[in-house]
Amino acid sequence: MIIGVLTIGNELTSGKTQDTNSSYIAREVVQRGWKMIGTISVGDDYQAIKDGLDYILARADAVVVTGGLGPTVDDITTAAIARAYNRKLFTDEGTLNHIKERFARANLNWTNNNAKQAEFPEGAEVIPNPAGTAAGFALKVNDKMITVIPGVPMEARRMLAEGVIPVLVRAFPEEQQHLERRIIKTFGLAEAAVDERLADIDLDSLGVGIGFYPNFPEIQVVLTTSGADLEKAKKNLQQAEEQVVARLADHIFGFDQDTLEGVCAALLTEKKLTLAVAESCTGGLLTDRLTDIPGSSVYLERGVVTYSNTAKTDLLGVPAEILNEFGAVSAETARLMAEGVRKLGRTDIGISTTGIAGPSGGTEKKPVGTVFIALADKDKTYCRHYRYRWDRRRIKMITSQALLLMLKRYLKGELTDE
Ligand code: ATP
Ligand code: MG
Repeated sequence: MIIGVLTIGNELTSGKTQDTNSSYIAREVVQRGWKMIGTISVGDDYQAIKDGLDYILARADAVVVTGGLGPTVDDITTAAIARAYNRKLFTDEGTLNHIKERFARANLNWTNNNAKQAEFPEGAEVIPNPAGTAAGFALKVNDKMITVIPGVPMEARRMLAEGVIPVLVRAFPEEQQHLERRIIKTFGLAEAAVDERLADIDLDSLGVGIGFYPNFPEIQVVLTTSGADLEKAKKNLQQAEEQVVARLADHIFGFDQDTLEGVCAALLTEKKLTLAVAESCTGGLLTDRLTDIPGSSVYLERGVVTYSNTAKTDLLGVPAEILNEFGAVSAETARLMAEGVRKLGRTDIGISTTGIAGPSGGTEKKPVGTVFIALADKDKTYCRHYRYRWDRRRIKMITSQALLLMLKRYLKGELTDE
C-alpha cells in the first residue's frame, strides 16, 4: 500500500508549530512494510487542502490527514474535504452526544459552534476520539481512502493506531499481508558501528527489511517482514533476528517494548535482590528511572543524591582524605560510594555515579564528560570509567544508561572485572 500524509494548519506553514505528526505517521507506515510517497503541509485553506489531496491521491492509495478538526471557524478540514468531493455534511448523533457529555463533565458551557465537530462528509465512517472532542473520519473516494484525525499529537497517535490503521487494512484486503516486526534495542555502539557489524547479513534473501532508529541513548534495530504466509514470515524474521543478535551480542539490552530499567527491575525481582543508589553527576535521574517501574519498592531500598564532597562523606562515609587525594570524580570515590550506600541501605547491591557533566569543571586530566560508575555487592566492587562527548543533559542520561547496563550484566552473571 502506498500512503501520503497531509498535515493542515496555519501554525505549521508559519513555522510556529513543528510538524511532528508527519514523521510519526511516516515511521508507523514504513514499519508496517507500506510505502510513503511523502508529506505535504498546507494552511487552513480550501484550495490548498484540495490541491494537497489531489497531489497525494494521484500517487498513493490512501492519505492520512491531520489537523483542523477543531470547533473554531479557522478549522475547515472537514468542510474542505466535503467540498473537494462534492459531499454534503451530516451530523453523527453518537459523536454529538460524546462531545456534549465531555462538556457537561468538564462543566463547560455548550455553544452551538461545537456541534460542527460532529459533522462529517456523507459516506464517511467516524473514527472516535477517546481522548478529546475532535473525532476523525475515513472517507472512500473512488478506490482511494482518505483518513482524517486531529492535529493534537497525543490524540493523532492513538487514533492512528486504533482507528486509521485498522480502516486501511480493511479497505485494502489484498494488502492484508502478515506484518511481523521485531525491535532489537542496543546501547553502547554508535549507529555507524551497528551498521558495520550488520553489513554482511543477507537480509534481502530472507525478505526482511532493516532500519536503525537512534533514540538517545539507545539505537533500535527494527526488522520487518511481510508476506501472505504467516509462518514463513515469522521464520524469516526469526532467522534474521538470530544473525543480528549474534553480531551485536551484549550491546543488546532488550526487545520490542522493553526498557533497560524494566529489564533490570524484572531481574532484581526475580532474583529477590535489593538495591541502594548513590548518585552524584546523575542528580537523581537513575533513581527516577528505576522508580518509573511499578512495584519498584520491592527492590529499591533508597536513592541518595550526594552532590558535594561533604554529602559523600556525611552520608556515605567516603573519607575526606580519599576525596582530597583522588578527587570526587575518581574510581576510588565511585567504589566507596557504592560500598557506602550498600552498607547504609543494608542491601544486596549498591550502585553509584560520579562524573563531570560540564560544561565547566573539566581539567586536562579529567575533562568534561569523565564519568565513573560502580557496583558493589558483599564480595566485590566493580568500576567502570567512561569519557562522553555530549552536552550536560545527555551525559546524565547516558551515565544512567551505562550504570543500568552494568547492573543488568551483573544480574545476568555477565559482568567481568574490567
Ligand atoms: P482541536 O479540536 O484539539 O483543536 P484540531 O484537529 O483542530 O484539534 P489543530 O487545531 O489543528 O487540531 O491543532 C491542535 C494542536 O495540535 C495545536 O497545538 C497544534 O499546534 C498541534 N498540531 C497540529 N498539527 C500538528 C502537527 N502536524 N504536528 C504537531 N503538532 C500539531
Ligand atoms: Mg484546532
